[in-house]
Parts: sequence; C-alpha cells; structure tokens
Amino acid sequence: MTLDDVREMDRVDPLANCAKAFSLPDGVVYLDGNSLGAMPVAVPRRVEGLLRKEWRQSLVRGWTDHSWIDLPVRVGKRIAGLIGANEDEVVVSDSTSVNLHKLLVAALKLREGRSVVVSNQENFPTDLYIVQGLAWLLDDSISLRLVPTADIESAINEEVAVVMLTQVDYRTGAMLDIEALTDLAHQRGALVIWDLSHSAGAIDIDLGRADVDFAVGCGYKYLNGGPGAPAFLFVAKRHQDQAQSSLWGWFGHASPFEFDTGYQPSDGLARMQCGTPPILSLVALDTALDAFMGTEMKAIRAKSVALTDLFVELVDQSCQGFDLDLASPRQSVSRGSQVSLRHDEGYPIVQALIARGVIGDFRAPDILRFGFAPLYLRYENVWTAVETLREVMITRAWDSPEFRRRGVVT
Ligand SMILES: *Cc1c(COP(=O)(O)O)cnc(C)c1O
Repeated sequence: MTLDDVREMDRVDPLANCAKAFSLPDGVVYLDGNSLGAMPVAVPRRVEGLLRKEWRQSLVRGWTDHSWIDLPVRVGKRIAGLIGANEDEVVVSDSTSVNLHKLLVAALKLREGRSVVVSNQENFPTDLYIVQGLAWLLDDSISLRLVPTADIESAINEEVAVVMLTQVDYRTGAMLDIEALTDLAHQRGALVIWDLSHSAGAIDIDLGRADVDFAVGCGYKYLNGGPGAPAFLFVAKRHQDQAQSSLWGWFGHASPFEFDTGYQPSDGLARMQCGTPPILSLVALDTALDAFMGTEMKAIRAKSVALTDLFVELVDQSCQGFDLDLASPRQSVSRGSQVSLRHDEGYPIVQALIARGVIGDFRAPDILRFGFAPLYLRYENVWTAVETLREVMITRAWDSPEFRRRGVVT
C-alpha cells in the first residue's frame, strides 16, 4: 500500500464531499469522533440564530412560535432513520445514563417475577453503575449478573428479565451481533436493552429487523451533537402502551399544562421524557444531523470498514517490532468503527501523537484507541496517522516526562 494508492481511495470515495460539512482545526487528524464528534460548520450560525432571534426576540413564546417543544420528538425521528427504527420509536432526552435508568425500570416492570439483569464485564461502566444503583434503590430485589462476553449466552436463564448490552465495545471496538443476541434473549423470555453509543452514526443498525425492545445512545459521539448533547432512546412500538419510565416528570405527562397534581403518562413514547429539554443542545444536534442527509448508513458503514481495514493494514505494514498489538478484531464484520492497539506505554504514546496533531485517546490500562468517523475522515488521514505513529515509535519521542502527566479526561 502506497500513499498514491491511498490518495486514489479518496479520489473515488462516494462520501468525500461529506467532510465539507465539518470544521476541524488545521493540521489535525481527528481520530476521536467516537468520544466527541467534530463540529459541523452549520452549528455555530444555527445556535447563534437561536440565541439572538429566537430566545432574545420571542422569549417564552419561542416554545410554540419556534416549536422548541417538539424538538425532542422531531430530532428523535431523524435519528430513527439512522438506526432502523420507525419515526415514532425514538425520542431525544437526558443523557444515556439517565435513559438507561428509565428503560431498565420499564423493562423490569414488563417482566415482573424475574429479577436479574445480565450484562458483560466489558460493558461501559456507567451502564453497569446504573443497574447497581437501581439494585441499591430497590433493596436488592433485583440484581446484576455480570459475565464475560463469551458467557452471555449461558447466563440467560428463566430468572433473567433484561439483557443489557452495548453493541460496540468502547475499549476494543469488538461488535456484538444484535440480531442473534436479541433472538436468544427473547427465546428465553427476557427483554433486551441495547446501548448504541459507539455505533449510532457509524454502523448500519436495523433495530426493527432485529426485533429489539429498547435501546439508548449518545448524541455527541458519531452523531456530532457537541459536548454534552442530549442522548436518544428507543422503545419498540409494541411496548409503548405498557412501558413506563422510572422518572415521572411533567414532560412525560399526558397534559403537562393542566398542572394536575396526579401523574398521568402521555400516550406513546413522549412519556419517556422527564423535564424541560435542553433547547440549545437540541438545536445543535438537530443541525449536526443535516450532515447525514443524502447519505445511506450502508455507505457510511462501508467507508468505516474501509478506513479501519486500511489502518490495520498500514500498522501491519509499517509498525512492526514496536510491541504494538492489535486489540480489536481483525475481521471487520466483528469490529465497530474503531481500531485499538495495546502497548504498555500506551498513555505517553497517545500524548506524543496528540502533540503532533493526531488525536486519538487512551483507555486504561494499555489501550490506544483510534476512532474513524466516516463522514469527515479521508483515507489520507489514516496514512498520516500511521506515519506519525511510526515516527513516534522509532524515535521514542513518547519517552519524555511531559507525555506522562495525566489530565482528568484521558
Ligand atoms: C459514551 C457512553 C456512555 C455515556 O453516557 P452519558 O450518560 O452520556 O455520560 C454510556 N454508555 C456507553 C456504552 C458509552 O459509550
């Protein structure tokens, strides 16, 4: 593989134009869109318009005059199109952690008599904390059965109410089979909650075909909604009349502006909202989703596979002998949109890369993580990243005290 080959890949890339919708600093190769997506160029103007025209001028009338009130549902509809859901099955609200709490309770209540939540040790910690906190709140009448990924299947028995998994492993990028695991859970009488945080916007997901019950996911990763963007949640149509949130707030009430003293859940998915939605962030997320218009998730996934395959191939080709081990699956069918490498000095290596403009991140204890956002990365960026990695390894540039200092966020 030569630089010319890689440039040819960019020349024939059907998604090459999508990068124009994003604004990245000069000299940066951004391989951390799986942690915080890049800023779409249209967002600042839209947010400024919201501040200056809508908020300043319309004041409280903005809720109706600018339909702020409908944003959670409207943006939910757009995300539904990216994850194979129906338009009325997705709403944007709260954070992924909070949405998990709401949906876990909903699912547990639909499986009364069963009390176990199955998840895997590799899952993202906040997902596990939410179950642990719920068990504490409910005086241990429910429990978390935490198993290695390989043992998920055998852990699902007749005590299990909910199987709660994340599609793409945040450390290794290993991808679980949503369809097969959902089917297995259903055969054993359990419901599923899928966390799509590391997949929505990068992978072609078909929640409908997989018959998924519930799902959640982040707005600020591959969906590019900006730091702290609200999350989304999915409830299959068949559960919407029975499923109830753990958090009864007025935005989930059948008629919030009647100010009844008693809670009455609204019809459908709207009941999964709790309090006032964050309109500044919702508008940013809504605008960011424009970058997906005119593309198909299948094409985005195809580019994601090609980017990660290229990275693996180039690391094989030019980073031999540096003790860098592939921590991600070699086969793209079982890999999300990231490639992780292992090295005992992972932390300073990542810092040295960042100092050279190649931004990936580090996950303890030894993972160097590189995320590939198909909408704004070029194949040549992958080439640059691997060349930079090679240079850092050959020169041992990472072996310096300045690269060993740890920030709060890694
Ligand atoms: C990023 C991520 C989260 C983050 O949850 P927040 O509530 O937004 O902080 C949760 N779960 C998974 C799997 C993630 O990757």
